[in-house]
Amino acid sequence: MIRFLSLLILILSFVPAVPAESREVKKKPPTKVTSSNYFVKKEEKNFSLLMEARRFGRGEVIFLRLTPKDKKWINESYKVSWLGKDVILTKWEKSMVAFLPISPDTPAGAMTLEIVSKIFFVKRGQKQYQIILEPTKFQVIKKNQQIKVDEKFVTKELPKETLDFIQECKTAKEAAFSKQSRLQFNGNFKNPLEKIFITSKFYVRRDYNNKQGRPHGGVDFRGKTGTPVYAIQDGVVVLARKAYYEGNFTIVDHGNKIFSFYMHQDEIKVKVGDVVKQGQEIGTIGSTGMSTGPHLHLGAKVNDVLVDPLSLIALQSIPESN
Ligand SMILES: [Zn+2]
Repeated sequence: MIRFLSLLILILSFVPAVPAESREVKKKPPTKVTSSNYFVKKEEKNFSLLMEARRFGRGEVIFLRLTPKDKKWINESYKVSWLGKDVILTKWEKSMVAFLPISPDTPAGAMTLEIVSKIFFVKRGQKQYQIILEPTKFQVIKKNQQIKVDEKFVTKELPKETLDFIQECKTAKEAAFSKQSRLQFNGNFKNPLEKIFITSKFYVRRDYNNKQGRPHGGVDFRGKTGTPVYAIQDGVVVLARKAYYEGNFTIVDHGNKIFSFYMHQDEIKVKVGDVVKQGQEIGTIGSTGMSTGPHLHLGAKVNDVLVDPLSLIALQSIPESN
């Protein structure tokens, strides 16, 4: 459900870099965005801002749309930084859009979004928004529910050729995730399967064969072997191959450092370089790699941060491609 929140106490300190009549620059403390905001709209003097997130919590992604108001300043440029890091802005009609990831490992507290506008090289305005994170607890699977996988996936004593293969898979994966291309989108993200049944949530920590596992880097969906898997958004295939842990593994680059990835497939139906459309069949459900039964593991990375892919799929305000 989309909630338009009027209650929301968004934000900011606006410090005009070029004070008009008044020489007195008032520095207000940043206004807080509370955790109950899911859909935030804010009218500022120079621009309007829209922020949408399933929740403002760890492992979520925030969609941002910034629309400048002032028509006379055609040379006005905007810079957005999130947690001190510059964000890639993509023009869309009269707006700019961006995706802001919240790392699942982020400590509780406030996160800062800063928007700076410039005309040529002169700073015109600066706003800071503080977003208060909602507490998020990721599940830990109890010992008696732990997963038993083939020992070859948990032991450290592996033959050299296997270790070399694991290393080669890792290098190929890193190369795919380091790609940077133009944002490709066509409306909201879609589910990767026709029928959705989640068997393991994002960042759940499971123990494998009595050894503490790493948090779950995606979402698992139940499905029969051979069930079609669909691309969740338009993009380009940057990896499509067999990998040691991931099995038949596909990574789709959606641009702006946004990737979705699909693991343990039975069959891969695309190859590197293929342009895929949202909803296009790219493979089928299987149980290849480190897997205990047929399922789809769907993952998402935004700006080098692993996020819950369902937080992308939940977004409702992504525009159609232009
Ligand atoms: Zn999984």
